Amino acid sequence: MSDCIVIGGGIIGMMSARMLTIAGARVTLLDQRECGKESSWAGGGIISPLYPWHYDDLTNDLSFESQAVYEALCDDLHRSSGVDPEYQKSGLLMMDEFDTAEAKTWMERYQINYQNHTDGALFSYVASVRNPRLLQALKADIIKKGVKIVEHTQVESLIAKEDKVLGVHTSKGDFLSDKVLACAGAWSEQLLNLKDEIFPMKGQMIVLKAPVDEIPHIILDQGRYIIPRADGKILIGSTMEDVGFNRDVDLPTQQSLHEFAWQHVPALKNAEIEHHWSGFRPASRSGKVIVAKDEIYQNLFINTGHFRNGLNMAPASANKITQLVNE
Ligand SMILES: Cc1cc2nc3c(=O)[nH]c(=O)nc-3n(C[C@H](O)[C@H](O)[C@H](O)COP(=O)(O)OP(=O)(O)OC[C@H]3O[C@@H](n4cnc5c(N)ncnc54)[C@H](O)[C@@H]3O)c2cc1C
Repeated sequence: MSDCIVIGGGIIGMMSARMLTIAGARVTLLDQRECGKESSWAGGGIISPLYPWHYDDLTNDLSFESQAVYEALCDDLHRSSGVDPEYQKSGLLMMDEFDTAEAKTWMERYQINYQNHTDGALFSYVASVRNPRLLQALKADIIKKGVKIVEHTQVESLIAKEDKVLGVHTSKGDFLSDKVLACAGAWSEQLLNLKDEIFPMKGQMIVLKAPVDEIPHIILDQGRYIIPRADGKILIGSTMEDVGFNRDVDLPTQQSLHEFAWQHVPALKNAEIEHHWSGFRPASRSGKVIVAKDEIYQNLFINTGHFRNGLNMAPASANKITQLVNE
């Protein structure tokens, strides 16, 4: 029997399992597929909210706390696993919204400055990671640290008695533990009884192949973005589709993402589209992230609802939930 079962092996579940293990817990992590293959894999890897003033204080606080540790964390994971998460502080060039009253108030409050740029405002502190590599590195690291990972095992329901959970019923039998931490991303609603509904917000993205150093910064305009990777790949994202768990990708979206790219960087007009995919962001109706103890079961904890910011908030979110689990 473990001290804590973690449900879900995305960035949130794996990062939480890592922190719990570092704090001394024996952790079993269950995933219905393979770890790191859902939203956390599909995302762009920008280590900042896109327009931070659109988000609540907790999202901003967890983002800043994570930004402060991300580079060192990626170095640690690289050393431990041999896989480089490719943390790059390339800066983010924001072409719209940076001069609204809301944005100015936010910048004053958090004492954030940008550099003037011919095309907008350059936020030079913003970094990106290559999230599929980050997830590979994280998985290898937590296995090394002693986390027991059980994949292809769907948690069907909680085993509960009065105000406590005893473990979980799964497609491969029952798992018992002292505490349960739910990090099931967009699927959280199927397991938990939450006041704030969690639902999937689908996003489609494409990746182009372009010459290295074509684009020096992440570019953000009208909610869409262009993210340069170190090897010349360029990610373009993303749509916001409230259509349930439908993974389909479509040609008009692919064309519109490509058009967005070459309208901002004409050299990308003839770039080859290497891949087109979708993922399910865990969105909450309130727009708020949930990092909390459950209101019914005293030993059930929840870390979900990270919406567009789970990669960015993961380290601090894992830290916060570990403190709650160990209180
Ligand atoms: C197109 C797109 C672009 C994005 N860009 C960014 C970005 O640039 N920066 C950023 O910070 N964020 C970004 N995001 C958001 C970010 O990816 C998510 O917030 C984050 O991945 C959520 O992590 P998670 O671990 O909660 O969810 P997931 O990664 O979806 O993990 C949930 C896991 O739980 C498992 N699971 C679910 N139900 C069960 C069950 N019943 N039993 C067992 N296992 C279960 C699933 O198999 C899955 O592995 C983007 C998302 C998308 C889709």
